[in-house]
Amino acid sequence: MKIGFIGLGRMGTGMARNLLHAGHEVTVYNRTREKAEALASDGARAADSPAAVARGAEAVMTMLADDAALRHVVYGEHGLAAGLERDAVHISCSTISTALSRELAAEHGKRGQGYLSSPVFGRPDAAAAKKLVVVVAGPAEAAAKFHPLFDAIGRQTTVVGTEGWQANAVKLCGNFMIASMIEAFGEAYAAMRKGGIDPHLFLEAISGLFASPVYANYGRIIADEQFDPAGFALKLGYKDARLVLETAQELAAPMPLASMNRDHLMQAMAQGQQDLDWSSLARVAARNAGI
Ligand code: NAP
Repeated sequence: MKIGFIGLGRMGTGMARNLLHAGHEVTVYNRTREKAEALASDGARAADSPAAVARGAEAVMTMLADDAALRHVVYGEHGLAAGLERDAVHISCSTISTALSRELAAEHGKRGQGYLSSPVFGRPDAAAAKKLVVVVAGPAEAAAKFHPLFDAIGRQTTVVGTEGWQANAVKLCGNFMIASMIEAFGEAYAAMRKGGIDPHLFLEAISGLFASPVYANYGRIIADEQFDPAGFALKLGYKDARLVLETAQELAAPMPLASMNRDHLMQAMAQGQQDLDWSSLARVAARNAGI
């Protein structure tokens, strides 16, 4: 397929590379151009603007930091909305608000363009290894047509609805579950350390109870305090904690744990942890325990 890809950060670079390796013809754009040129050896063509990426493409995937970045790429000068062909589809992979997802579906619809939402679970190493878990929502025909693109970047794709925002709601609630697990590790490890018990041994002891790659991976990162460089920056985790509460408000579904988690991430931001990995949230519980 002839596609475009915008946003070559920690996640986007691995995703775009796997699309190329699957045989798709990929034109890429990134705000910082060097990251686009770095993919040339994998066969990517670098374009000068989001609109140029969209020229002749059946679909353009975006993987950007947040709502503001995506708005800039879609509506800014030489933006994606202006450049995407009629009947071509914007596939939005970023973790964005449910509100922006609804807006994009409507705005692209007015221009005769399609919109699918396909946020992903998995960190940059999973993106590089084609092991992402992809969550898709949007018109069924488009979701089926572009399934090969999801197969090229991930190990599992689940279609959760026919309205794009529904995939964003799933992604935000999934991240809330991971953030809750990080909170739990932070509190348990703080207690273990105060009791003179090595957190690695605690992790080994509970591994049979929580046999999940997410528990194993985060449990190790937090026990090793391996927070720099970040796989997923804490400031982006804070963004997601705010967004899941916006979704909870839209749906009138109270999420008191999520409120607490947002406040703890805010405390970590205030302590200068924004560019550390979001699992450094565990330091909040450690500080509260006097460690
Ligand atoms: P990242 O490494 O910080 O990359 C962010 C990308 O957005 C870069 O390409 C950056 O361009 C671009 N960008 C930022 N502001 C922009 C603007 N105003 N205009 C144009 N481009 C802009 O972030 P990431 O970790 O890849 O995350 C990307 C998305 O995936 C986020 O929504 C995140 O929540 C989600 N996500 C991340 C992970 C993870 O573990 N990292 C996992 C799942 C989902 P430059 O290169 O020029 O800065």
